[in-house]
Amino acid sequence: MTDLNFSKASRTIKAFGTYAADKQLEQLTINRRTTEPHDVEIEILYCGICHSDLHAIRNEWGGTTYPIVPGHEIVGKVTRVGGRVTKFKVGDLVGVGCIVDSCRHCDACAGGEEQFCEQGWTVVFNYPDKISGGMTYGGFSETIVVDEHYVLHVPEKLDLPSAAPILCAGITVYSPLKHWQAGAGKRVGIIGLGGLGHMAVKIAKAMGATVVVFSTSAGKAEDAKRLGADEVVISKDAAQMRKTPKLDMILDTVSGKHDVNQYLNLLKTDGSLVLVGLPVEPLPVGAFSLVNGRRSFSGSNIGGILETQEVLDFCAKHNITAEIELINIRDVNTAFERMGKGDVHYRFVIDMKSL
Ligand code: NAP
Ligand code: ZN
Ligand code: ZN
Repeated sequence: MTDLNFSKASRTIKAFGTYAADKQLEQLTINRRTTEPHDVEIEILYCGICHSDLHAIRNEWGGTTYPIVPGHEIVGKVTRVGGRVTKFKVGDLVGVGCIVDSCRHCDACAGGEEQFCEQGWTVVFNYPDKISGGMTYGGFSETIVVDEHYVLHVPEKLDLPSAAPILCAGITVYSPLKHWQAGAGKRVGIIGLGGLGHMAVKIAKAMGATVVVFSTSAGKAEDAKRLGADEVVISKDAAQMRKTPKLDMILDTVSGKHDVNQYLNLLKTDGSLVLVGLPVEPLPVGAFSLVNGRRSFSGSNIGGILETQEVLDFCAKHNITAEIELINIRDVNTAFERMGKGDVHYRFVIDMKSL
């Protein structure tokens, strides 16, 4: 595929993506710019599969431009650096998450929170590419070229394939857990034991919190405990929900429609229900769920570049990686189907050698 909107010197590489919401992913070719002075070129070794990739390829949120090449939990090796790159050298193990560009001078960018850039930040896939023209293409591809500011060091100590999900799932739960001060003496609930949820259990536990998992799947109870949960509540069981002691904070990682009021009612006074899941349907909130106990319903979106480095280092320190099923890229359509049915234990990661 030749992208006529592409404005930079480029080379053609292999990728995996789809031409329509109802089509399977297949091999295609895309253009990648050659390295600019501040760019790092990365050979992609592993790429995780996040539920946001599924929402996007199926155009569930609207606004998807086809063809789309998903993938935003990227780890690999530096193969080339531009003349002005200072933080990376050829051979370094690196990661790229959701953010590949931002304005760099608004208050959010200056404060290290590029995810809230007032000019809008560039998503690694399916987003207008200010540098090269056309759209960005994600990590289901051979290589990626990214300004060094948005590239992370992956600590050597981490197992590379199972570290990939830290680049989205990890930072997305770490940022709110830190912001709302999950830690010793706090009861923290995690709703949904999927890719984000299972990382949240491990990270909240490492922060010292008492962790309560809310799952719709009775079959995941044992896993939740093994991953570090102190308590598991099967959310479909009204009696279990009723007798759950109140919580300081609940992190909601659910990808589909669900009733948030039953969780708001489990919060202590001044407690917060923090949404990171991105269901397509709006989630109705009853006034009494909030006014009783002065509760908050809030949200959080991935995390900035500095904080993404912080979570990678935190995971290395606490020996945290994702529980993964390593797959061949030819099995990616089956993986998305299984993800749609909630059958993921607990993150698919693609071995990119199979591309
Ligand atoms: P995932 O691996 O598919 O896990 C989602 C989990 O939610 C499922 O395993 C299931 O857990 C639960 N669930 C799914 N549908 C449900 C429903 N209708 N009612 C109740 N529970 C349900 O997905 P993920 O990759 O962790 O992503 C989760 C969500 O976060 C997605 O919407 C994704 O787009 C979003 N996301 C947001 C950000 C951000 O920055 N805000 C970043 C990444 C992802 P149980 O079986 O335990 O119930
Ligand atoms: Zn993601
Ligand atoms: Zn900005």
